[in-house]
Amino acid sequence: MPAPAPDSPDRPSAVPALDLARLRADFPALAQEVRGQPLVYLDSAATALKPQAVIDAVTRVYARDCANVHRGVHLLSQRATEAYEAVRAKVQGLLGAADPSEIVFVRGTTEAINLVAQSWARPRLGPGDEILITGLEHHANIVPWQMVCEQTGASLRVVPITDAGAVQLEDVDQALGERTRVVAVAHVSNALGTVLPVRAIADRAHAVGAKLLVDGAQAVPHMEVDVTALGCDFYCFSAHKVYGPTGVGALWAPRAVLEEMSPYQGGGDMIRSVSFERTTYAPPPHKFEAGTPNIAGTVGMGAAIDYLAELDRDALHAHEQALLDYATQALSEIPGLRLWGTAAAKLSVLSFTMDAAHPHDIGTIVDSHGVAIRTGHHCAQPVMTRFGIPATARASLSIYNTREDVDALVRALLHVQEMFG
Ligand code: PLP
Repeated sequence: MPAPAPDSPDRPSAVPALDLARLRADFPALAQEVRGQPLVYLDSAATALKPQAVIDAVTRVYARDCANVHRGVHLLSQRATEAYEAVRAKVQGLLGAADPSEIVFVRGTTEAINLVAQSWARPRLGPGDEILITGLEHHANIVPWQMVCEQTGASLRVVPITDAGAVQLEDVDQALGERTRVVAVAHVSNALGTVLPVRAIADRAHAVGAKLLVDGAQAVPHMEVDVTALGCDFYCFSAHKVYGPTGVGALWAPRAVLEEMSPYQGGGDMIRSVSFERTTYAPPPHKFEAGTPNIAGTVGMGAAIDYLAELDRDALHAHEQALLDYATQALSEIPGLRLWGTAAAKLSVLSFTMDAAHPHDIGTIVDSHGVAIRTGHHCAQPVMTRFGIPATARASLSIYNTREDVDALVRALLHVQEMFG
C-alpha cells in the first residue's frame, strides 16, 4: 500500500506532507531485490541505510581529497583537513551545542562511553562511589561502567524497568544517593523503543552532584536533540544509525568539562609537544583524538547531517510515529504474537516474540520474504533476563519505511505461523 496522499483522510491534517517516493529514491540499497523480492528493510536500529549523498561524500574523500588531516601543507591535506574539521560545526548544530570544540570525534557511541568512563570517571571515583544506570541499557552503556567499578572499587546500581519497559522517576529517586557520581542512561532504548525522561533525570542527577551521560544512539535518528535543553553533561551517538558511515560518531561535553579531563589514549595528533621527559596535550577536542582518524567516515557523517537538515524533521517524526502506530496495531492482531516494550513514550522499535517459533526461526523465514529484521538479545541481555525470554525479533522503523513494508512483515509473520503453528 503506498503512503497516503497528502490530502488523504488517512493523514491527520496536522501532519506535514512527506514525499516518501522521492525520499526512498535517495537510498540506493532500497532499489534491490533480496531473495527474489523487493527489499523491505526493517533493521535501521542496527544500522540505517545510507543516502547517495553520504556515499558520494565518502567516495569524494578517497577519489579526490585523499590525504591525512592536520599534518600536511599540501593542497590535498588542506582540503581533507577542512572537510574533516567542518563536520564539528555540523555536529554542534545537530546537538544544539555551544561550540564546535565541544565535539569529540570517536568511533561511535561505544567508544564515547568508554572515553567518559576512563577519562572522566576512572580518575575521580573510588570505593563507596556509585554509578547509576537503568535496566534497559545497551551493553555499551553497561560494560564500560563495570570496568570502571573494577578499576576504582565503585559500585554499579541499576534502576529497574516496569513491565511496559519504562523507567519511572520514583525509581530513579530511590536509586540516587549522595554517593552517586555518574548517571548513564539511554535516551531511547534499542531493545524496546522506550524514550527516557532525560531532562527530569538530569535535574535529579545534578541535585545529588552527579554527572549525567546520555547515550543518544537511538534518539538522534528519530528526534531533534538539544543538549542544553536536556541538561545533560555528556551526549553521544553513532553516525551509522543516522544515515552516515560506520565506525564514526561523536561525543559532546561542555568545553570546561573536556578541559578537566585527561586523555586515556595517547599517540599522534593529540599532543602539543613530546619529549622523553614530558608530553603536553593539545587542547580539547584534539587531545581525545589520538592517531589518524576515520577521515572519510567523518566527512560522510557531515554529509548525513546535511542530508537530514534538508528534510522536514517534524514531518519525518510524524511519519515515523504514524507508522509505529500502524505497525503496533497490525502486529497486535496476529494471534500468539507478544509485543515487548509498550511504554507510552516510545519510538520506532517493535520487539516481539511468537508462541509458534523461536525468534531466530522468525528472522530466517521473514528473510526468505525479503524482509530484514533483527533477532537476538540486541546487546541488551539484562532486558531479556528482566522479561524471562532468551531473545526477541525486532523490527525497527526509519524515515524511508512505508505501510507496505509493515504489510510485507505481517504477511511474512503469518507465513511463520502457518509453518510452525
Ligand atoms: N547504545 C545504543 C542504545 C545502541 O542502540 C547502540 C547500537 O546498537 C549502541 C549504544 C552502540 O553503538 P555503536 O555500536 O555504534 O558504538
